[in-house]
Amino acid sequence: MGSTLIKGGTVVNADAAVTADVLLRDGKIAALGLGHDWRADTVVDASGKLVLPGGIDVHTHLEYPIDGFTTRTADDFHSGTIAAAHGGTTTVVDFVKKEPDRSLRESYLRRRDVAAAKSFVDFGLHAIVPPREQQPDVLDDLRLLVAEGASSWKFFMAYPGTQMVDDGQLLDGFELAVECGVLPMVHAENGHMIDREIRLLLSSGRTAESFHAVAHAHESEAEAVHRAVVLADSVGTPLYVVHVSSAEAAMEIGRARTRGSRVWGETCPQYLAVAYEDYADLGERAAAYVCSPPIRERGNQEGLWRALGAGTLSTVATDHAGFCMEQPDDLPPQKLRSPGYFPKVPNGVPGVEDRLMVLWETGVRTGRIDVCRFVDLVATRPAKLFGLFPDKGLIAPGADADLVVWDPAADHVITAAGSHLRTDYNLYEGMRVTGRPVHVFSRGHHLVDDGVLDGEPGRGAFLARGNPQIF
Ligand SMILES: [Zn+2]
Repeated sequence: MGSTLIKGGTVVNADAAVTADVLLRDGKIAALGLGHDWRADTVVDASGKLVLPGGIDVHTHLEYPIDGFTTRTADDFHSGTIAAAHGGTTTVVDFVKKEPDRSLRESYLRRRDVAAAKSFVDFGLHAIVPPREQQPDVLDDLRLLVAEGASSWKFFMAYPGTQMVDDGQLLDGFELAVECGVLPMVHAENGHMIDREIRLLLSSGRTAESFHAVAHAHESEAEAVHRAVVLADSVGTPLYVVHVSSAEAAMEIGRARTRGSRVWGETCPQYLAVAYEDYADLGERAAAYVCSPPIRERGNQEGLWRALGAGTLSTVATDHAGFCMEQPDDLPPQKLRSPGYFPKVPNGVPGVEDRLMVLWETGVRTGRIDVCRFVDLVATRPAKLFGLFPDKGLIAPGADADLVVWDPAADHVITAAGSHLRTDYNLYEGMRVTGRPVHVFSRGHHLVDDGVLDGEPGRGAFLARGNPQIF
C-alpha cells in the first residue's frame, strides 16, 4: 500500500483542532505536523477543510432478522457499508442475535463470516443476550465470545416473550460482564408497560401506525433506564444505554452520573432532527417512522440537545435498521406488511449514511456543539467504550488511517434517490446541509473520492475488539 499526504487541513480530535499535514503509510497514520518536507505517492489538498477521524457507528442492524425471523432489514453488509463509507463512517459495530437452530456463539461466528465477505468498511459485532429459556447455557457462550472480540453484550428490557430478559438475568449477565471486562448495553424500555399500553390501544380501535409512539411512553423508557442503572450499580458494572429517545430518560442518566454511576447514553439523529409531528398525520405512511423507542414530539428534542451539550449523553449512533416502503421481490414483507395495524410494522429506520451530515447540520451549524464535541460523539467516545481506541477514533501517529476530509462549506441535499442504501425512503428527505465528507480513507485506502467509491466487498476487516476503556 502506498503513502498519502493530506495537506493543509485542520485536524480535529476530541480534545483539540490544529492545522497540520497528515502522512498516511501502510494503512496507518505515520506522522502529523507542519513544515515538514514529506513525500508521498498521492497528495490530497485539504486547505479550507477539516480532517476528522473516520466515523464509528456502534449501532447498526444490517441484514438483521426481526419479529421471530419473519422479516429482515433491507440493507445487507454490502449496501449498508457502502452507504456508511459515503457518509464518512469507516467502522460499524452491528449486532448478533441467536438464531433459532444455532447457539449464540455459532450465530456470532456465522454472522462474522457473512459480514466479512461483504463489508467495505471495518466492522465489529455486539452479542445480544437471549432470554435464558432460549439457551440455558448462554453465559458459557458469552464467556467464550469475549475471546472472539465481543467485548459488549446487549440486553433487552422490552419485548416480553421474545427478547426480554428479567431482572434476575440482567443481574447475572452484569456480574459476568464485570468478570470478563465487558461493557453491557441495555435497550431500556419497560416491556410490560408497553404491552399493556398496546392492549389498551387495540381494544379501543386505535391501531393506526402513529399510535406506535403512544404505546411507548416516556415513563416506560425512563423507568427502565433508572432500573438498569440501579441494577448495574448494585453489581458494580459500567453500563451503556442504547438509543436514548426521551429527554426524561436522559435526565435519569444525568442524575445517575452526578451520583457517580458509570453510565453512558447514546442517542440517534432521528430523535434529534425528526419529530412525532412529522408523521402523526401520514396514515399508513407513518410506518416509515416507526422505530423503538419511538421518534417523539418536537418539544422533546431540546432536552436531548441539552443532554448532549452537558455530557449527559455521550455518543450519537444510528440504530440503522432500514425497511422498504415499497415491497421488493427479493425481501420478506417490509414496512407495509400489515397497513393500518401498528403492532405489525417492522421497527427501525435507516440513517447510517446520513448520521454525520445530519448531526453537523443540526448540532454544529446551530452552535449547539463544537467540532471537537462532534468528533467525540461520532468517533472518539464510541471507540473508547467499545474497545477500538486508540487504533480508531483518533488522529495520531500509530492509529489506523481512517480519516474523513470534511468540507464545511459544501452544500448537499439529502434524498433517498441520492443515497446508496437499498431503503427506498429517507427520514431527512429534502434536508439541505452545509458540510459533507469529500474524501474518506479506510486504513489508508482512498475509499471515497468526492462521491466515487473505490473498493471491493470483503475489504473491510472484522475487528476483534478489546476491553472498553472507561474513564
Ligand atoms: Zn437497535
